[in-house]
Amino acid sequence: MDALQELEHRGRVVLVTGAAGGIGAAIAERYAADGAAVGLVDFDSTAGQALAKRLGAAGHHVCFVKADVASFVECDAACSVIEKMLGPVDTLVNNAGISPKHAGKPVPIWRMEPAEWHRVIDVNLHSVFNYVRRLAPGMVDRRFGRILSMSSVAGKAYLDIVAAHYSTTKAAVIGMTRHLAGELGPYGITVNALAPGRIDTPMVAGAPREANEAVVGVTPLRRLGKPTEVADACLFLSSPRSDFITGQVIDVAGGWLMT
Ligand code: NAD
Repeated sequence: MDALQELEHRGRVVLVTGAAGGIGAAIAERYAADGAAVGLVDFDSTAGQALAKRLGAAGHHVCFVKADVASFVECDAACSVIEKMLGPVDTLVNNAGISPKHAGKPVPIWRMEPAEWHRVIDVNLHSVFNYVRRLAPGMVDRRFGRILSMSSVAGKAYLDIVAAHYSTTKAAVIGMTRHLAGELGPYGITVNALAPGRIDTPMVAGAPREANEAVVGVTPLRRLGKPTEVADACLFLSSPRSDFITGQVIDVAGGWLMT
């Protein structure tokens, strides 16, 4: 079998949100390397354009669109550009997310600004609605789709290193994943979520060193995860090897919590 035939996502069109950095950039790179055309969405246009340029120079079919995932209007426009440039999107990865900290620490609920609560819900949860609402009709029409969303182990267990808004959204993503798997399954669409543990990205680099060391100490594999390890789980969940898997939450956490 020649190398090209082994690419499982050849001919596929993937849209990744929060694709400019961290886990999202690793996901975009892995899909591109596996033969997919990849639409990158992020509100950081400097990093997003740089990644698109680098992947394009390597011969991959990618395009970057700047958008705030919290806005349905911007989501609609971004999806239209990507569909025009790359074709109908068959694989959606809802990856963008934020976990605001104050001096490296999560703010307790009794001191949380309402604006911060609402912003986290908008970015981490309403974004999933926005992109699924925009792209699911095409998937339903074509009777095929793969939808992946980034939850977190914080959506399944109490962690004192994140704030209430973050864990609330990550738990909601799990509920939404199961509901959508039920609704969309009859149309050939699978819907799954990833629950990363502590992954070495800019989001985690912002936390105090002791906080990361404490997690490593209780993680059976005794290290932080790599963005590429989350990306590999995404590729599996949209590949033909997982065609009968839907409504699941896959931990990529080195055994941390085992929720
Ligand atoms: P990150 O902060 O390193 O990168 C997030 C990316 O999303 C950035 O490129 C950022 O510009 C983009 N983004 C943020 N808000 C956006 C918005 N409103 N519109 C468009 N783009 C936006 O984060 P990460 O660590 O790579 O996390 C990626 C996802 O994985 C998030 O959903 C996060 O909650 C989840 N997660 C991360 C970890 C971890 O340990 N890093 C653990 C569990 C879950």
